[in-house]
Amino acid sequence: MTGILSLCDNKIVQYLCACGKWKSIYRLYLCRHCYKIRCGDCVLHEVDSPYCPNCLENMPSAEAKLKKNRCVNCFDCPSCGHTLTPRATSQMVSNPDDPGKSTPKKMFYLACGFCRWTTRDGGIPDKPTVSGGWEDMENPYAARLSSLLEHYQQLAQREKAEKERKKYVRRRSHLMYAASMDKYGMVSVAAKRKGLMPPTTGTLKENEEVTVTILKEPDTTKMHQRMSSVEFQPAETGDLFPGHKHLLIRRSLRCKECEHNLSKPEFNPLSTKFKIQLIAILHIPEIRVVPGAEFRHKKDTKVTLTFTNPVNTNTKIQFLQVEGNAGEEVTAKIDVPKKELVLAHRDDATMYDEMSSQQEFKDDSRSTATTLPSENQEQQTVWLEHRINVNLGTLLQQGK
Ligand SMILES: [Zn+2]
Ligand SMILES: [Zn+2]
Ligand SMILES: [Zn+2]
Ligand SMILES: [Zn+2]
Repeated sequence: MTGILSLCDNKIVQYLCACGKWKSIYRLYLCRHCYKIRCGDCVLHEVDSPYCPNCLENMPSAEAKLKKNRCVNCFDCPSCGHTLTPRATSQMVSNPDDPGKSTPKKMFYLACGFCRWTTRDGGIPDKPTVSGGWEDMENPYAARLSSLLEHYQQLAQREKAEKERKKYVRRRSHLMYAASMDKYGMVSVAAKRKGLMPPTTGTLKENEEVTVTILKEPDTTKMHQRMSSVEFQPAETGDLFPGHKHLLIRRSLRCKECEHNLSKPEFNPLSTKFKIQLIAILHIPEIRVVPGAEFRHKKDTKVTLTFTNPVNTNTKIQFLQVEGNAGEEVTAKIDVPKKELVLAHRDDATMYDEMSSQQEFKDDSRSTATTLPSENQEQQTVWLEHRINVNLGTLLQQGK
């Protein structure tokens, strides 16, 4: 259909979520257990498994934690953050059997396809294998950091044990709560320091010479480059070093009210399928506005809406006038159709066959409202009520 507004125009038709927020249908879920619309803000987000977005390797959460949520084999460009890819090159090396002769040897380096940064720019020697064996830079504070980490882990454990013990003590004083809020005594330390060290600001005296060092742009790293490796924070571009790729997570969503899954992806990161996917667009008719309607002051205008039925059964639609003001901004008097509409079920064959799409659909009075597949696969019929906000456009100026 031409002339219909595209998918991205999601500010035009908005549905009211159970939490009271107006959202586009593409951003909503439908819980099939409590029959309510849920948006991203009113569902529980759960981590299924961490995985590398480049090599798509799954990693158990404990292992990912141990590897600081980074992939062992994939690297990010320290200059722009794009993924680095290995490049082959041949190098002449002296033949150990015949010192006078040199033979070509295949070597590998990492290069960024986006900004053209290579490991050679960082002064990192090429490697003889494609998988690299790229060693990490040694953090000079690694021992100190691990000892601190150990110390805080012990503190956290002690605190956990204390909490368990306190569970049985009924009365809790506010003092105890305040103490527990300041986990490692850092708040008081910070407060003390703040008091001891007043902010140092100065004003210039008259005729005082101001020296400004102009940073040479090409050699100096930008803030995001510096912060991409927090341990080293290289000041010059020559010191940039590739960092291991951050892992991403596959997450599932749960209804906050009934705790049933609304979205659960397949475990394998290679798969783009879902075990459960209850997005609203698969269950609730999608409404689009046909553009072209002109609105003039105190004049009737016919507006054409199109409804698309996403389910395999016919869906009945009834229009109800909005009763009472639930925060909606109504700026026009609307005459909604009195008659019940029946939307034909989705027919996958018509997507591929143009002839069949021309078949006329006869309204079937025995048809039902939206049918949701329940867990035991029995079809059940439910009436869902949605509040919909349609932004039809602006009033035309008089005289136009
Ligand atoms: Zn919501
Ligand atoms: Zn990887
Ligand atoms: Zn790059
Ligand atoms: Zn629910």
